[in-house]
Amino acid sequence: MADIDEGELRKEVDEVLHGTKRNQGPQVFEQNGRSDIKHVMGVISGKGGVGKSFVTGILAVELARRGARVGILDADITGPSIPRMLGLSGVHATGEDEMLVPVTTKGAIKVMSANLVLESETDPVLWRGPVVANAIEQFYSETIWGDIDYLLVDMPPGTSDVALTVFQSLPIEGVVIVSSPQDLVQMVVGKAVNMANMMRVPILGLVENMAYLTCPHCGEKIEPYGPSRLAETAESFGISPLGQLPIDPALAAACDQGTIEDVLPEGLLPDAVQTIIQVSELMDAALGRG
Ligand code: ADP
Repeated sequence: MADIDEGELRKEVDEVLHGTKRNQGPQVFEQNGRSDIKHVMGVISGKGGVGKSFVTGILAVELARRGARVGILDADITGPSIPRMLGLSGVHATGEDEMLVPVTTKGAIKVMSANLVLESETDPVLWRGPVVANAIEQFYSETIWGDIDYLLVDMPPGTSDVALTVFQSLPIEGVVIVSSPQDLVQMVVGKAVNMANMMRVPILGLVENMAYLTCPHCGEKIEPYGPSRLAETAESFGISPLGQLPIDPALAAACDQGTIEDVLPEGLLPDAVQTIIQVSELMDAALGRG
């Protein structure tokens, strides 16, 4: 595992608590009395299809395996893929006292997603921006989350107005940026970095998905997009590299079949998981929370 620069993390936490990086949206969604969400972390990407939801799923599974109480708020309303990869296809969220109850996976991860409230998961979501924002508010403020250590938010892809609303309205303590190797070249990462900076949300670091593949016959590592540029890209934006994931047909199949909780190897993305835990601990210590 790479060394995580604790000084850098402390600086980020300080900025959140004491000034420049405080979330200052015009409209902040409130928690309800039946939820105690300790930390909200976002997963973002400069564009769709790079594996943002997959990384959200991995982080949730890894945190849950370490004993944390984890929720996923699927704010990718028009492309919700979280329920399917966690085996919740065809499952519907229920209601209680005019609030929503998230669906719990077999690995004890609580999930709220547009696909859990639609009649059928193949229904297209043809909602305009304000309706989408409304849904996200409901998924946060009008959902009975119970006690949650980490609520991971699978953010809308790109830099749309919906993405901005989510940034401004949820108390996000940090974001993990996901990219694929081509994006590193195309500076799509820059868009995500700039959005987080403009929204004054600390960036925990960068995960490079689909970085390489391993030949099933000879085990050779193949880099279809050329050598990784994770380290140099992260450095150029002054953010931390948080690890790579290979292109793995077995993982793609697990996403389709809803078996990632069973199939994901132990210990994926250790630096990203560790950074989320460390930032949260620093927040708790700074705020005097136990
Ligand atoms: P995004 O949230 O960025 O739109 P998803 O996480 O939904 O992207 O991933 C898009 C598709 O790519 C999914 O079908 C997923 O199964 C597949 N996928 C993502 N990452 C990998 C990977 N590292 N190996 C194999 N398939 C992947």
